[in-house]
Amino acid sequence: MTTPVPPDTGLQAQHRTTRAVRIGRVTIGAGHPIAVQSMTATRTSDVEATVAQVRLLEAAGADVVRIAIDSARDVSALAAIRARTSANLSVDLQESYRLAADVAPHVDKIRYNPGHLYHHEKGKAARDKVAFLAEVAARHGVAIRIGVNCGSIDPAKAGRFGDDSVAEMVDSAIEHARWLDDLGFTAYCVSLKDSDPAKVIDANRRFAAARPDVPLHLGVTEAGLPPEGILKTRIAFEQLISGGLGDTIRVSLTVPNDRKGEEIAAGRRILDDIAHGRFRSVPENFARRLNIISCPSCSRVENEAFVDLAEKVREVTAYAREHAITIAVMGCRVNGPGETDDADLGLWCAPTHVNLKVRSETVGAFRYDEVLGRLRQELDALITARSHGATQ
Ligand code: SF4
Repeated sequence: MTTPVPPDTGLQAQHRTTRAVRIGRVTIGAGHPIAVQSMTATRTSDVEATVAQVRLLEAAGADVVRIAIDSARDVSALAAIRARTSANLSVDLQESYRLAADVAPHVDKIRYNPGHLYHHEKGKAARDKVAFLAEVAARHGVAIRIGVNCGSIDPAKAGRFGDDSVAEMVDSAIEHARWLDDLGFTAYCVSLKDSDPAKVIDANRRFAAARPDVPLHLGVTEAGLPPEGILKTRIAFEQLISGGLGDTIRVSLTVPNDRKGEEIAAGRRILDDIAHGRFRSVPENFARRLNIISCPSCSRVENEAFVDLAEKVREVTAYAREHAITIAVMGCRVNGPGETDDADLGLWCAPTHVNLKVRSETVGAFRYDEVLGRLRQELDALITARSHGATQ
């Protein structure tokens, strides 16, 4: 199921003519309807639970469903999942890029993150790893997404553009797109995600100016709990899609597994509103208040108490809503440590403990039932320090 852009809104005419990329039975780009996707958050090795979630997302109207793959065990589970669903499947690779060869026969798209190609086989050039991925994808007729993420930037780009973190993301995406072009592989799209909607808008506009031919996957990463997570995503999508940018979307929300269909429903609602000219005004001071970002969770989440923790963080910090402070809550060690660095206060979940940070400094690891008290202490200290600074 896809949402066409009605011809009378004028948005179709503004839509860029990107190249067409096929993902199973769905085609994105070249004026095709914008496809809506989501990601499973069950343990991939739990075939029953993951198949159930793929079906839940399909029933909610997902055009593509993404599954995280981190191990040989996940690969075997993926084969079993594929046998039980005809959904258009994408896989999310982290460091183990070589798993692409094992997963490609079972899926329609592979997402890799340029910033994660450096962890394994450190002596091998990233370009050669991309060549491996392109060869595998071409052999199996599988699309690729170059998925650039603010929290895991290619170390070769970090700091090269001063404070311009958007330039790091855009440069990385352009470089990888050029590598794939040089390899003769064109069935790819690009995403540039940040938890700040303004940076998502900026990054996608800059990339599209340089590469108007490449289809874009839009998303605000770690948008957080609804309704704020939907509002942040809407801010970015309204600006980009109404300007003709975006060929597939994902709304990332921190919700329990049985509510993952809400990501699809929210995405379709935003597309429908944009298509009919129904734009929401965004409070001018939205970004100048307490901002809680949290990941949407996926199979890598280390303790299912994570979603509950994110909700409790919102409750216990509500008293600070008028303060421009960002708190990040992340579900695992894969992206948690890096993606909490830029927040004022960060929490990332381990199996039995939650790691608490103030900016990039770790305060300590606390039990799930004690971390909220410590978070409040740190929040109070931060508010006091800022008010003290303001009076000097
Ligand atoms: Fe998945 Fe970890 Fe990212 Fe959360 S932070 S979405 S659990 S990889």
